[in-house]
Amino acid sequence: MKKVLLVRYAEIHLKGLNRPYFERMLVDRMRDALQPIPARIEREQGRVFVYDVPEQQLAEAARRLCTVFGIHSVSPALCVEKDWEAIRQAAISELADVADKPSTFKCFAKRSDKRFTMTSEQICRELGHALLEAYPNLSVDVHHPKIKVTVEVRQSSAFIFSKELRGVGGMPVGTNGKAMLLISGGIDSPVAGYMIAKRGVSLAAVHFYSYPYTSERARDKVVELAKIVSRFAGEMDLYLVSFTEIQLAIYDQCPSSETTVLMRRLMMKIAERIANNCGAQALITGEAIGQVASQTMDSLACTDDAVTIPVFRPLIGFDKEEIVEKAQQIGTFETSIQPYEDCCTVFVPQHPVTRPKVDQLRASEALVDFEPMIQKAIDEAECMKISQFIFD
Ligand code: ATP
Ligand code: MG
Repeated sequence: MKKVLLVRYAEIHLKGLNRPYFERMLVDRMRDALQPIPARIEREQGRVFVYDVPEQQLAEAARRLCTVFGIHSVSPALCVEKDWEAIRQAAISELADVADKPSTFKCFAKRSDKRFTMTSEQICRELGHALLEAYPNLSVDVHHPKIKVTVEVRQSSAFIFSKELRGVGGMPVGTNGKAMLLISGGIDSPVAGYMIAKRGVSLAAVHFYSYPYTSERARDKVVELAKIVSRFAGEMDLYLVSFTEIQLAIYDQCPSSETTVLMRRLMMKIAERIANNCGAQALITGEAIGQVASQTMDSLACTDDAVTIPVFRPLIGFDKEEIVEKAQQIGTFETSIQPYEDCCTVFVPQHPVTRPKVDQLRASEALVDFEPMIQKAIDEAECMKISQFIFD
């Protein structure tokens, strides 16, 4: 009787002819996430099985797999020969730790190996009897069972399980291109990156800092956030770009009510160029309609006008509360709320325009020759490799 992990995948089954490609990518991402836990991963008919994980690391392996995009759920399972007696014993042992108190159960069976002589119904019936006999505390409830015991008789072996851990869903990272996340130290942008990575997009990230107006600690915080996102999104390049010179030029030479939107436009321009250089096909921001003055419909239109690359804003229709909930779920919230200034808060105008006009902003931007500053910021950017980060 071997202990294994049975992995169900999320949307990959929809992918028709590309399915083997998606499956291979999923297995690669599973391998990354399990490092350095020993494991043998095998695909079989719409499932992935993880064998040979040392028993004391099985729970950790299952927990990590639940953070891999593309995985719907994981069941720790017992793997036995396709033999009725072996199946019966495995099912009894599977319920050993829950059967000491009164509870209800129901059996489920799937037989994809039709050479196995018992039908699915026979397996369920016989197993029901066997479990009732072994555990007097248990009774059958076919409508609302507390325990669901499943037997899958497959080509390779039979698998018996009663637990299902929910995965994060989505698609394997790397199957849908690459995008550049504008990451601040705030709550929203890490969540935005997570959501796009969830659709199979690998990430690069760019952060703008304004030393000495922002502290080293603010930068460290962003590195920390990128690491947490990398737990799901895999490794990424994080570009750290000094924004001080541009920010001061905007502050000194452009209308003060427009500084935030102008800043946003210049960030987008720089991000677009770095994206082009590193093969990212879109930008990602954490903006939501109406959240702050720089996120009204008019402001967003002015921001978009600065670039030609597509801009993804996965939080566009989210309330702050919903974003916070998501940030707590993925583990970025506690880091995001540490109180270090980011460069937007330092230079916030007292009366920002809420209905900026594209033509007006283009004109204000033309007051300064930003091109050499943009080029310098890009040339001097520091690139950090954030490798996939595993929590303790
Ligand atoms: P966040 O919580 O992500 O900081 P926010 O609600 O505070 O978002 P803003 O500060 O207005 O909103 O920023 C809007 C978006 O612009 C952010 O979600 C992020 O994508 C990008 N952004 C803001 N500041 C920076 C920065 N210093 N470096 C990189 N991107 C930034
Ligand atoms: Mg912010």
